[in-house]
Amino acid sequence: MDKIVIKNAYSNNLRNLNLEIPRNKFIVITGPSGSGKSSLAFDTIYKEGQRRFLESLSSFGRSYLQSLEKPKVDSIEGLSPAIAIDQKSTNANPRSTVGTITDIYTYLRLLYTQISIPHSPDSGLPIKPQDKSDILKNILKLKNGSKLVFLAPILENKKGEHRDLLTRYESLGFTKIRVNGKVQYIDEPLKVDIKKFNNIDLVVDRIILKKDSKERIESTLNSCLKISKGSLILLNGEEETFFSQNYYCSKAKKSYPALDESLFSFNSPRGYCPECKGLGRDRVITEQSLTFDTENSLFEGPLKEFFQKETVLEKYVKKFFKDNKVNPESPLGKLKKGFLKSLLYGDSEFNGLLSFFENYISFKHNNVVDNNLSHLIVFADCSKCNGKKLNPYSLAATINNYSISDLCDMEIEVFSKKRCCRPKAP
Ligand SMILES: [Zn+2]
Repeated sequence: MDKIVIKNAYSNNLRNLNLEIPRNKFIVITGPSGSGKSSLAFDTIYKEGQRRFLESLSSFGRSYLQSLEKPKVDSIEGLSPAIAIDQKSTNANPRSTVGTITDIYTYLRLLYTQISIPHSPDSGLPIKPQDKSDILKNILKLKNGSKLVFLAPILENKKGEHRDLLTRYESLGFTKIRVNGKVQYIDEPLKVDIKKFNNIDLVVDRIILKKDSKERIESTLNSCLKISKGSLILLNGEEETFFSQNYYCSKAKKSYPALDESLFSFNSPRGYCPECKGLGRDRVITEQSLTFDTENSLFEGPLKEFFQKETVLEKYVKKFFKDNKVNPESPLGKLKKGFLKSLLYGDSEFNGLLSFFENYISFKHNNVVDNNLSHLIVFADCSKCNGKKLNPYSLAATINNYSISDLCDMEIEVFSKKRCCRPKAP
């Protein structure tokens, strides 16, 4: 169907309106105040689209919702599920998008929480939690006679002696630990530099694998998982295997949180990019923004207020001009290219104006940048997330290799052709 056919709409000011609206076109409804624009768009077309969508839910689903009244219209044909954004309901949140206002993004977050595959952003490898029974099966599959050492990681990348913790384990009967891969007695001083980051594992048990050792292995496995909150390092001779009930990447040697909806929200500290805090943009100073005024000298142009008081910057820059035998009163457009480049990007003595102003704006929190500089700032995609707004772990969760951000960037037509949300059959 290529049009929406409305027959006899009579909501509010509409007087038995009959109308055909072409589909897949950008349509504007215009007219004087009170002529029934909103009555047509919101109270008739949108209301009927919403009502039909709710009707399509199961009766169980509908039992939780208030049934919607039928709009005042005899019939509407050719209608698809509709979304409506009221002009008044927008707010000042710079993270707000069509997806968040209409709650479509909420459904996408739910979808990614349920079926996306998390990856380690450090190694790029897929990660998933392992079931205790799977870990046990893997151990029992090893060759009979294997000499196994069961270790429970207790401290990862931690500085310090941690004597209290070790004494506590000693009182529970444990005698050895492994520090950065080397086994030592638990009551000895740590044989590593405690000012550095170290890994400490508790030696829980040593078992020679035999046909009847299942029970003991199971009990040791339980202890390890309990002590280390879900992980086990198994040594089989020289070979070391890491098992985890948590999301863990053995290559990156890092644990990651289980996926939940907040991880896909750029409004939440759990989900947003730590650099731009979910805005997807960075305020940056560029070469062009510092040198667009070619008529004036550096000290007379848009940056002059930075050079009016005796500042460290003024001292350095004036010295820089003097050392290079350049007249500080020369207009920027007349400066030699090589000198201008050093002035902007720095040399061995001076860090350069770009570096100074970049530090200056990053030091100014949030959006508070004084007026002197605001006209020189341009917005660019955040350098950390490339404008994708989410943190690396959230962006590494994919469905058929597409992250939630890739999905939102896709045109609806491309998206429907790719069918990217249908996981491949196993
Ligand atoms: Zn960012």
